[in-house]
Amino acid sequence: AQDALRQAQKMEAVGQLTGGIAHDFNNMLAVVIGSLDLLKRRLGDTDARAERYIDAAADGAQRAAALTQRLLAFSRQQPLSPEVLDANKLVAGMSDLFSHSLGGDIRLETVLGAGLWRTHADRNQLENALLNLAVNARDAMGEGGRLTIETQNVHFDDRYVSENFGVPPGQYIMIAVTDTGTGMPAEVIAKAFDPFFTTKAVGKGTGLGLSQVYGFVRQSGGHVKIYSEPGQGTTIKIYLPRFFGEALEAPRTALKDLPLGD
Ligand code: ADP
Repeated sequence: AQDALRQAQKMEAVGQLTGGIAHDFNNMLAVVIGSLDLLKRRLGDTDARAERYIDAAADGAQRAAALTQRLLAFSRQQPLSPEVLDANKLVAGMSDLFSHSLGGDIRLETVLGAGLWRTHADRNQLENALLNLAVNARDAMGEGGRLTIETQNVHFDDRYVSENFGVPPGQYIMIAVTDTGTGMPAEVIAKAFDPFFTTKAVGKGTGLGLSQVYGFVRQSGGHVKIYSEPGQGTTIKIYLPRFFGEALEAPRTALKDLPLGD
């Protein structure tokens, strides 16, 4: 429990620091990108070589901006557009995307829980988070393997929570992403959510995938946990709060009350 507290405090501090820097960088990059755009217009098509230089500079600035977006996601400062979601539909809708990013040697299996509760979250960000997890899983399964995506309603009562899960009591939808890859030693698990922590080769990993997942899930009022051991594969569980509102209830209008078409 002491460790968990220290970990939470560390993530909070790192989040504030990176968030501040990312925010300022974002503003500066907006100036750079805007000015390059003006410069390019000003130039018209008078100088093809100069235009290429400007494009290269703009490209670099865009990539830097994408990176600061990921840092803002980690520090929970990104603007979210939450909506009421059926995670089963979302996962099912992503299967082509998953298969495409996994490659041929990896089998995709989805186990969608029946009567899954709804959650209130940003659709794009959740898709992005699941894609990040799938790509990590793929990277951990060099020889091929199985990626399982499972959804389930989870109701934590206090006893359960204090004993094991480190997730506050409540009702959640859980999305678990499991791979049969290399697994992670304890030292890697301890740092996996840190921004820029990566064990991948230079140019292969940014160390921002899991930090982005962490930031998004926390900003959505949820929790994310890693279960892994070297040689045993990895499971990452995302818990998102159950949505209790009625906003998306199917319309109750009886057929006979519907206006007749003309
Ligand atoms: P990146 O993928 O760019 O390295 P991440 O933040 O997504 O950054 O992951 C950080 C590190 O956590 C990875 O470099 C890897 O060591 C470890 N990791 C993440 N997911 C998995 C997984 N499914 N299996 C094994 N190790 C993983």
